[in-house]
Amino acid sequence: MPAQIIDGKAFAEQVRGKVAAHVARLKEVHGITPGLAVVLVGEDPASQVYVRSKGKQTIEVGMASFEHKLPVETPEADLVALLDKLNADPSVHGILVQLPLPSHINEDLVINRIDPAKDVDGFHISNVGLLATGQKAMVPCTPLGCLMMLREQHGSLSGMNAVVVGRSNIVGKPMAQLLLRDSCTVTVAHSRTKDIQAVCRQADIVVAAVGRPEMIDGDWIKPGATVIDVGINRIPAPEKGEGKTRLVGDVDFESAAKVAGAITPVPGGVGPMTIACLLANTLTACCRSNDLPEPA
Ligand code: NDP
Repeated sequence: MPAQIIDGKAFAEQVRGKVAAHVARLKEVHGITPGLAVVLVGEDPASQVYVRSKGKQTIEVGMASFEHKLPVETPEADLVALLDKLNADPSVHGILVQLPLPSHINEDLVINRIDPAKDVDGFHISNVGLLATGQKAMVPCTPLGCLMMLREQHGSLSGMNAVVVGRSNIVGKPMAQLLLRDSCTVTVAHSRTKDIQAVCRQADIVVAAVGRPEMIDGDWIKPGATVIDVGINRIPAPEKGEGKTRLVGDVDFESAAKVAGAITPVPGGVGPMTIACLLANTLTACCRSNDLPEPA
């Protein structure tokens, strides 16, 4: 039987709907409007698309959106000064610095300058530590979206074998922490893993966050497993015309969908959930900073 397709777009819409309803109540009952500041340095085309999309969706759920677009040559000190200003601004509840930053800017320094309570990307060292020790943290949006889809699919994840392919700080590692927190048995595979196919074939859950187009095919998947494809890779698509491209994941969707029990598509899987979780995190940050109950 072909795999069930997990519709990240529809699920993200549900999440945004819940966020919007909560924002409306916050405004009506408490007169508070959650605010998200997004900082973009430079003119990377992909980053510009993401930032535009984040701004649009922030406004659609009723939040305030503050966009700060800085020229590529902005000195690190100016960016730090802007973050200090946003940290001190009570109308800003969430701050996101779009990565990657130009090479003259120290990314770690910048991320760790953000007030951890406003760090809606969950990359600040304090939030990383809080997550790793099972405390209340801001959780990185992409792995949070993956976890929500897995919980929706399975209910409890307790006791499941999960393999996360990729060990980056922004996806692989926090994903592994979240799965561990939900009582999965977690293996983190990476470029040095031996017999990675066999490792993946043991998994009830495979999360692919590698950045290699269609690397994981059906032979890597245990029949019935759930496959979450984080990868976003643009590849040539000559069938669409000269110079055309298309997006694919890190999983070879066609072959994997013949074996898996459920699978996320690319596009339309993890991607939409990432922005929905950013909005959910901003709402959470706003509630926490105002000592109000957090959204469920
Ligand atoms: P990174 O490049 O930071 O990390 C990639 C990881 O994959 C590394 O740990 C690397 O291992 C591992 N890897 C690379 N090649 C292999 C291989 N041949 N076999 C096994 N492991 C390998 O990527 P990110 O985590 O930032 O992103 C991963 C993918 O997810 C990208 O396609 C990115 O575009 C996408 N992405 C999607 C998001 C969304 O919203 N849907 C958000 C963020 C990312 P090692 O550490 O050993 O080098």
